[in-house]
Amino acid sequence: MALETTLILFKPDAVSKKLVGQVLSRFEAAGLAIRGIKMLRFGDTLLHEHYAHIASKPFFPEVRNFMQRTPVIALALEAENAVARVRDLLGPTDSTKAAKGTIRGDLGVDVMVNVCHASDSKETAATEVKRFFTAEELFSY
Ligand code: ADP
Repeated sequence: MALETTLILFKPDAVSKKLVGQVLSRFEAAGLAIRGIKMLRFGDTLLHEHYAHIASKPFFPEVRNFMQRTPVIALALEAENAVARVRDLLGPTDSTKAAKGTIRGDLGVDVMVNVCHASDSKETAATEVKRFFTAEELFSY
């Protein structure tokens, strides 16, 4: 199976509750390698691009406020089958429906406050990794 790189964002709940280290440990323990990592403020332009698929939803303003509450941390993680593997580790979007043992099941609060964003397909991952990282910011080793 080919190596994939997927895009993770540590959301403001993970940053403010200091959950980043333990969640990153789970990804590394599952065999995912860090290709890129950075902290950034999620400005309006980037936010509208990244969340274009929910921009017309009634909950979008709330998501926007939440995602801009603290800086976020972006990660590009690589492994075989990385996209599906990370989504499995996270559990479903709604933390209240996520099984114990998943990141959202253990550490998430609800459907919005759910620890991490992760790319949902190989195609989305390719677009999202480029959205947050230049070629020079991605490492292979
Ligand atoms: P995912 O992030 O799991 O791929 P979506 O792309 O469907 O999920 O939604 C993007 C983000 O929008 C979610 O992670 C969550 O923060 C927020 N969101 C989704 N649905 C709702 C909802 N019903 N109410 C509030 N926020 C939501």
